[in-house]
Amino acid sequence: MSFKNIMGQDRQVGILVNALTGNTLAHAYLFTGIPGIGKTTAAFALAKTLHCKDKRDDCCDACISCKKIAHGTHPDLVVIEPEGDSIKIDQIRKMQEQVSYTSYEGHHKIVLIDKAERMTIQSANCLLKTLEEPPPHTVLILLTSVPYQLPSTVRSRCQKVMFQPLPEALIEEALQKKCGSEEGEKVQLIASLAGGSLGRALRWMENGLLQERKELLETLSRLHTCSPTALIKCAELLGEDKALVREKLDVITSWLRDLLLLKATPQTTHIINNDFTRESCAAASRLSWFNLFEQAQVINEVQTAVQGNVNVRLAMETMLFKLSR
Ligand SMILES: [Zn+2]
Repeated sequence: MSFKNIMGQDRQVGILVNALTGNTLAHAYLFTGIPGIGKTTAAFALAKTLHCKDKRDDCCDACISCKKIAHGTHPDLVVIEPEGDSIKIDQIRKMQEQVSYTSYEGHHKIVLIDKAERMTIQSANCLLKTLEEPPPHTVLILLTSVPYQLPSTVRSRCQKVMFQPLPEALIEEALQKKCGSEEGEKVQLIASLAGGSLGRALRWMENGLLQERKELLETLSRLHTCSPTALIKCAELLGEDKALVREKLDVITSWLRDLLLLKATPQTTHIINNDFTRESCAAASRLSWFNLFEQAQVINEVQTAVQGNVNVRLAMETMLFKLSR
């Protein structure tokens, strides 16, 4: 994947290409924006273009350098991601040692720190040394969807590139190209549910998530009538696959967002789950503002908790019991 494959981020890509062609690259970048909109692709495209034998304004994606970077085997590329829950100080120290040597194959060393907000305080402080006195020919790229969780001392030493959520029409177009026109209705629904993230939309296309979403929304709409046994069973299903828990929590958030909107206005134009309008209207009129805000808080707490090391099934159970009240 190269810069030309990144959709809907022309200004952001422009900033990077101009820096590459004008030799004005910053020592450190902070790529921000929701997951699945091209941050990682842009970081790899930048790394590839710096080493590419062919071009200066985009990588060829075919030469040996480009291939090594794509596979993460280029000796001048250091990729750091959380080990377990966090990015540890030893990972930062190891990287500092790696960038202190002269480049093997090209002119630049590139350090990519994914989910940079997961750096411990010690890791972030250790990284500060590199940000304050960057080794020559080294470019650091920090990726995060929650920049405010990074210490301001780190944020202020990086040039920010803010990636934007993609327009629904662009996501629809990309999905259609990938899946063909026979899945038109499914494509349209997923594009509207993706919240601007192509990565998320693609996950929805590939997994059985659409069916699970339907079942989840059906459960949410009759949660107040569910027996404790049914709630426990539902929590079990919700917590079954930890990798998909966030997607499912996003569905619950979108359901609640619809209820809040319907509580404020009878108009249904901006409803996300527009195939569940009847059920959302009924729930919105049944629940008070107080109930709804309480539910929002419960979901918010669970969303934060599942990022850490909690028992997901237990967290789901507690959440469903609270939501059913
Ligand atoms: Zn190349």
